[in-house]
Amino acid sequence: MDFYPVAIEKLIEEFAKLPGIGYKTAQRLTLYVLNLPSDEVEGFANALIEARGTIKYCSICGNFTDTDPCPICSNPNRDKSIICVVEHPKDIRIMEKIREYNGVYHVLHGTISPMAGRGPEDIKLKELVRRINGEVKEVIVATNPNIEGEATAMYISKILKPLGVKVTRIAHGVPVGGDLEYADEVTLSKALEGRTEI
Ligand SMILES: [Zn+2]
Repeated sequence: MDFYPVAIEKLIEEFAKLPGIGYKTAQRLTLYVLNLPSDEVEGFANALIEARGTIKYCSICGNFTDTDPCPICSNPNRDKSIICVVEHPKDIRIMEKIREYNGVYHVLHGTISPMAGRGPEDIKLKELVRRINGEVKEVIVATNPNIEGEATAMYISKILKPLGVKVTRIAHGVPVGGDLEYADEVTLSKALEGRTEI
């Protein structure tokens, strides 16, 4: 494999560590970067370092943010009585696209997955339970409609119901086995509208 000089091999290796990137794609990205003007490469490298250095998680919802609490949690116009639970920060961006949702969020940073050895303590569930006070009326679980997402939704329902909060699940407009990411805005909006209590 040591066809390239060490510096190039190293860059290919770094790209190949990214999710969904195999050796061939990593190689293509590396060769692309090498052909960029050096100021663009510098800009790219700086963006990586800056993002990593300044972005943190919101101490309330777990979303990526550069201010704590994040702009959604600190917005007085957002309805704090509804919390939409998602798997990853990217799901918030998707939910925000549909514009109808005016509640707040909670990011789990994963799902319960016995197969992958991930239990309830490995995701941000304790943090969710801590947020349930008299003010919260409904928790909408918008985890992905696959085995892990469903198992996580059922678990959330089980632990939150005794606390007197209504737990709902977005409707199955989102294709089963699919990912929120691939649902269009109309589908998602319908899924939110047609949510049912679990
Ligand atoms: Zn937040």
